Amino acid sequence: TGQQLSYVSAVRAAVADRLAAPASVFEGCVRTWGDTLDRAARIAGGLLALGVEEGDRVGILSANSDDYLALYLAVPWAGAVLVPLNCRWSEAENRFAIEDCRPRAIFVSDDFADANAAMLAEEKVEALISLGSPRGGWHTLAELLAREPIDAAFRGGDDLFAIFYTGGTTGRSKGVMLSHDGFVANCQSMRELGLFPQGCRGLVVPPLFHLAAAAVLTMTMLAGGTAVIGKGFEPAATLDLINQAGVTDALLIPTMIQMMLDAPGFDAAKLKQVKSILYGASPMQEATLDRIMAAAPHVDFVQLYGMTEVSCSATMLGADYHKGEHRAAGRHRGAGKPISIAEIGIADDAGNLLPTGEVGEILIRGRGVMLGYWNQPELTAEALRGGWMYTGDGGRLDDHGILYVVDRIKDMIVSGGENVFSAEVESVLALHPAVAQVAVIGVPDARWGERVHAVILPRAGAALSENEVVAHCRERIADYKCPRSVEFRNEPLPLSAAGKVLKAELRKTYWEGQSRNVA
Ligand code: ATP
Ligand code: MG
Repeated sequence: TGQQLSYVSAVRAAVADRLAAPASVFEGCVRTWGDTLDRAARIAGGLLALGVEEGDRVGILSANSDDYLALYLAVPWAGAVLVPLNCRWSEAENRFAIEDCRPRAIFVSDDFADANAAMLAEEKVEALISLGSPRGGWHTLAELLAREPIDAAFRGGDDLFAIFYTGGTTGRSKGVMLSHDGFVANCQSMRELGLFPQGCRGLVVPPLFHLAAAAVLTMTMLAGGTAVIGKGFEPAATLDLINQAGVTDALLIPTMIQMMLDAPGFDAAKLKQVKSILYGASPMQEATLDRIMAAAPHVDFVQLYGMTEVSCSATMLGADYHKGEHRAAGRHRGAGKPISIAEIGIADDAGNLLPTGEVGEILIRGRGVMLGYWNQPELTAEALRGGWMYTGDGGRLDDHGILYVVDRIKDMIVSGGENVFSAEVESVLALHPAVAQVAVIGVPDARWGERVHAVILPRAGAALSENEVVAHCRERIADYKCPRSVEFRNEPLPLSAAGKVLKAELRKTYWEGQSRNVA
């Protein structure tokens, strides 16, 4: 039945008649689908020979590469559970993840082997496999590739496909358990909007431990397309890669788009072969969206809203909503409509569904929703209630069925009894030409309970005063939403590995010794 999708079977079916076509381009090396499937089948054989059994976790600690692509297939091919580890994390953070999910084997690239070797040895991981040079006591990818190819294990439906660790934006990261069916169905459903069509050339530049990149890679595979893999994001180099490899479809995080536009010598002509750009994972500033749309008017821009817990996306805002009448009505500020496998509800604090137009917590249900948090039954019970997934995000639906994400609930500021959405104030501040980076947080205030506080990194060479910042806001938003204090920094704001501002960290200094009441 349709509820029994399997990752490996779905990809094999999609590429069956394209075995001679290119599956990946990475640092000048082109690999065909035939070669890629053969490598996956051999690595899977190697994993079994190392003692990996069905349901065992297999970790990966590496920057993006074509080997990483092969592992996305090889691990489930062997019947094991994929655990892409966050290669931007410190040794201590990865130690936490490894102690949490206890992988039987871990693939590690040379870039991360030295820094983590002692920790990996201490954690007694059974099989350490080097993706690069040979290392004492370790296996190598070459050794696994020398095995005979094996038949793929059949796992599908509700079987565990992967554990992805969340971004850690709001606190300690959680291991999200995604099923085969949920993840594949989510990727298929995203493609229904016409993105990543048959034979596309998809850009895989966001790190493959992040679900957004996993989704792009998988959509490209389901299209029998070619994954254009970049080891990491670098504004000028990524733009050149898009140009030279003829990328047709991409997913970029808003901060990446902003960095590209700001890079010296940015040349929009390098985007000429691109047909669609998906953006999302964090709020997109309207100023940035306007700039990129003006620079590349031929590109379909599509927003996605989602999270690790729902297998990537829950809603998408199609290109049409960015233009014409919809735009005039402000619908380009929405996060779009539910994809075909998802449903959205908005609930009040007690979990009652609210009517159209009212702001409450965004709830999601459907096939893509996670099986739960690994090893965290209490957090799972909190997040999955009454058939819905509670997102921790605030939002509302309009009468066109479009979802508007207003803020993370933990980031909302209650000032003098009024709700202020930090994301709204940030988008206004980002319009100021002297603002390079901004975060708006609630800090304790004797009179207002919480007051709206802006933390700003001015653009190099720009002078900006508190009065100017407040005046800029007063012209555009209600008085109670305007910052009552401003802090200028001369260093970038603290970011998570996924490029999101760590507001909890910014708030910490202000809230020391006091507890903050959040809904
Ligand atoms: P953690 O759960 O560990 O704190 P995280 O929530 O940042 O980290 P992800 O699952 O990568 O980890 O991110 C999902 C979150 O990103 C959503 O809950 C939402 O707050 C935000 N987000 C995703 N897409 C959008 C979007 N289009 N607009 C605004 N916010 C978005
Ligand atoms: Mg989250």
